[in-house]
Amino acid sequence: MRFDVVTLFPGYFVSPLGESLLGRAVKEGILDVHLVDLRDFSDNAHRKVDDEPYGGGPGMVLTAPPVFAAVEALRSEAGAPPPHVVFLSPQGRRFDTPCAKELAMRPRVALVCGRYEGIDERTRSATLFDEEISLGDFVLSGGEAAALTILEAVSRYLPGVVQDAASVSADSFEDGLLDYPHYSRPRSFRGLEVPEVLFSGHHEKIRQWRREQQLLSTLERRPDLLRTAPLDGEERALLERLAAKWRSP
Ligand code: SAH
Repeated sequence: MRFDVVTLFPGYFVSPLGESLLGRAVKEGILDVHLVDLRDFSDNAHRKVDDEPYGGGPGMVLTAPPVFAAVEALRSEAGAPPPHVVFLSPQGRRFDTPCAKELAMRPRVALVCGRYEGIDERTRSATLFDEEISLGDFVLSGGEAAALTILEAVSRYLPGVVQDAASVSADSFEDGLLDYPHYSRPRSFRGLEVPEVLFSGHHEKIRQWRREQQLLSTLERRPDLLRTAPLDGEERALLERLAAKWRSP
């Protein structure tokens, strides 16, 4: 899969794209990341891409011409699939697992990072961006951290990035619930013990225990997820019992 990241700070991405799973995915060609320096599209001798806001007020605005030029250059690239162009913005749709999976189906995604007070509104009124995506209800200083987060979350769904595909499908949110708890050596640590069932060697019992733990931690931490989690009748009944126990222990 190809990503184009339009940014004022291409250097921001160099180390993360060279380390760990992302680093290996890039090396193996599963992930092809093109860093596009927005300043290359400035029509200004000083490579300036920001200016004062009309009407006054604090800060600077990312101007429209270099953003249009950069995105249009990506769209008109010959021999490459057309990019799905995403502008990173706190005003966009909230990024989550379904959104990551949706992006992972696309052959090419362009992530455009804003800076300063924001971007000239005319980039949004034209059909320059296919969509706007937000990381959450908070404001970052630029889109770079959001782009990196999206890159990493999406790449987990590309075949070969995470070696054991089962580890992705067991993660939180995959089946509408939070993940079950994990334990490793030592068996006893500062008086804290590992649940006995995990030493039973009984795979079905372990599976059932983990499923119950998923329900329990979702009930305790993210009850909102239970409204839409795809549970069968037996699991709904178990959830009712756990909820009753949880309400009056
Ligand atoms: N004044 C703007 C925020 C500008 S922050 C507003 O309140 O809507 C500068 C840039 O950081 C934005 O253009 C965007 O690209 C990026 N950014 C900030 N918060 C973000 C978030 N929650 N998700 C994705 N990108 C974000």
